[in-house]
Amino acid sequence: MEVYGLLGKSLKHSFSKKYFEEKFRSNKIDCRYENFELESASELHALLKSEPNLKGLNVTIPYKTAIMAHLDEISPEAKEIGAVNTIKIVNGKTIGHNTDWIGFRDSIKPFLALGMEKALVLGTGGASKAVEYALKPLGIEVLYVSRTATGSNCFSYQDINSNAIGFIKLIVNTTPIGMFPEIVDCPNIPYEAITPQHLLYDLIYNPAETEFLKKGKEQGAITVNGHSMLKIQAERSWEIWNKE
Ligand code: NAP
Repeated sequence: MEVYGLLGKSLKHSFSKKYFEEKFRSNKIDCRYENFELESASELHALLKSEPNLKGLNVTIPYKTAIMAHLDEISPEAKEIGAVNTIKIVNGKTIGHNTDWIGFRDSIKPFLALGMEKALVLGTGGASKAVEYALKPLGIEVLYVSRTATGSNCFSYQDINSNAIGFIKLIVNTTPIGMFPEIVDCPNIPYEAITPQHLLYDLIYNPAETEFLKKGKEQGAITVNGHSMLKIQAERSWEIWNKE
């Protein structure tokens, strides 16, 4: 039986196992999906030996970047983003891909409107790079907001005043702030400047409505959570494992 799975450190609350087990059940697909908790990305090789029927892996926090050094090949997209969330295994050879950017692009597209030529992206981790990779070809310039990073397109939270929020209509949260169980937290931006012309997108999917989205909604903004992104990236992983 073919085996698929998720690589990470602490996977008790992860989405992928439930999602794929349900997919296998409802489509009568005779495969297994397991969680593989590793202490370090270098344990991948031992895992491949112990699971010879492994055909594909999803990768989650904290290994999306660290796993890259342990793969035989990396797709151009994953290389540019600097993160792998999908591994295809063919005759023992490991090929890294990134499907987060496709999940983000396809889930945000229906909500984009005129006047969204710039985006404020909160956080500068792996997910933020997938967001930038998706937005660039759509003609949307990314301006990062970070606690520490610097650079011409990167601002501190103190720089983000009401004027900046008034000027930039698309705000994407790629930080883990507000994620379960810390659900009362939210990124520190002036929410009072948000208008019904704004789109607030949170990559977090648990809770379904973060404090960030709640505050945006109170100002009349359109709000989108990370649930569709998650489903789309999972389906794209399945395609990579099976159709290419
Ligand atoms: P990450 O690398 O751990 O964190 C992203 C960035 O957030 C960090 O680089 C940091 O940027 C900022 N940050 C972290 N902790 C913070 C804090 N306490 N206060 C303020 N800023 C903080 O995570 P990631 O892999 O990029 O993922 C980010 C989020 O996206 C997670 O919640 C993850 O679950 C979610 N995600 C969702 C999907 C989906 O399909 N829906 C896919 C991928 C990721 P600075 O140091 O520059 O401030």
